[in-house]
Amino acid sequence: MNIHEYQGKAVLKEFGVPVSNGRAIFRADEAAAAARELGGPLWVVKSQIHAGGRGKGKFKEASAGEKGGVRLARSIEEVEAFAGQMLGATLVTIQTGPAGKQVNRLYIEDGSDIAKEFYLSMLVDRGTSRIAFVVSTEGGMNIEDVAHDTPEKIVTFSVDPATGVMPHHGRRVAQALGLTGDLAKQAEKLAAQLYAAFVAKDMEMLEINPLIVTTDGKLKALDAKISFDGNALYRHPDIAALRDETEEDAKEIEASKYDLNYITLDGTIGCMVNGAGLAMATMDIIKLYGESPANFLDVGGGASKEKVTAAFKIITADPNVKGILINIFGGIMRCDVIAEGVIAAVKDVGLQVPLVVRLEGTNVDLGKKIIAESGLNVISADDLDDAAQKIVKAVRG
Ligand code: GDP
Ligand code: MG
Repeated sequence: MNIHEYQGKAVLKEFGVPVSNGRAIFRADEAAAAARELGGPLWVVKSQIHAGGRGKGKFKEASAGEKGGVRLARSIEEVEAFAGQMLGATLVTIQTGPAGKQVNRLYIEDGSDIAKEFYLSMLVDRGTSRIAFVVSTEGGMNIEDVAHDTPEKIVTFSVDPATGVMPHHGRRVAQALGLTGDLAKQAEKLAAQLYAAFVAKDMEMLEINPLIVTTDGKLKALDAKISFDGNALYRHPDIAALRDETEEDAKEIEASKYDLNYITLDGTIGCMVNGAGLAMATMDIIKLYGESPANFLDVGGGASKEKVTAAFKIITADPNVKGILINIFGGIMRCDVIAEGVIAAVKDVGLQVPLVVRLEGTNVDLGKKIIAESGLNVISADDLDDAAQKIVKAVRG
């Protein structure tokens, strides 16, 4: 789960991480009061969307001005003007895709005077099964470009979970950033605070870009992008409460209500499968025959008729879906339950696109009989290979 920058900074602040003072606002008429409380003389007006690259982003509406999604303001009037322009407008950044994202919240921050900009992130490194630090002197810019053009400027190391973060890790961060003296001490402290926050809150990724040195010699997190492990949210009600559903895919939210494992993808063939492994194999074989899946969907082992119906509705609600492949191996799941769910859903929402069903396993004959007798226009398949070829052929007309 992702959260907004201002929420991320509040979480980091609990662990002592230095951040600027700020106020989140939802309406333009709150801007002046927020700016007055912060005091100035420099403010930053920051669009809050779940995507990076805001500073270099562009608004779709000409009325929002030319200046991007992060703006420096030098008076309260300017803060107000920017807030009025940005709230409600659609910001397009390299991370939002061409559709962009509507800005519904702003964060007004005390402006900092920047001497240096660094990059620091942490993530769960699958290779080492440890939490890794990624540090670079090249802050404020796109880290993917740094990795591509000057990979030697990125320092990566991981922390042994048996010891946790140690002073030498902090020294390594300081060294990678070329910091000495008091700034090196600040970097060591920061590394320990960030590690503590990362572990305590079950973060998946934490990115501070830029981490700055202010002109008066203070290290500070000027940006914060955090994502949390969704499977650990049950033990962090404070984090779960930060969820902003308007930032998420509506189909994925609907799926989570029914406990379906669903992820939107950009292809044309909607998939309904039981078991994550089988879902992966189904996606692969669709690719093999030259088309792309519109989603990953694992309905789970013991799905009910209601769950199958919900899954089917989510798939058909996607305008990109040009055909549907249902691939079920009935182990715990019974094929007749799937068949009934599919028929109920089709009767409910209709069927505008070709549907291929491949059933195998428990009660398969009954399942096939239910579908055959339903009178619905369903293409039956005998095995996975046959099913993939049939759906690819069907969507190509
Ligand atoms: P992003 O573009 O989404 O990554 O948003 P950031 O929070 O990183 O802000 C973009 C850029 O705005 C930063 O890299 C800074 O260069 C600049 N910026 C943000 N806050 C301040 C500030 O307090 N003072 C100054 N001078 N620049 C800032
Ligand atoms: Mg940034």
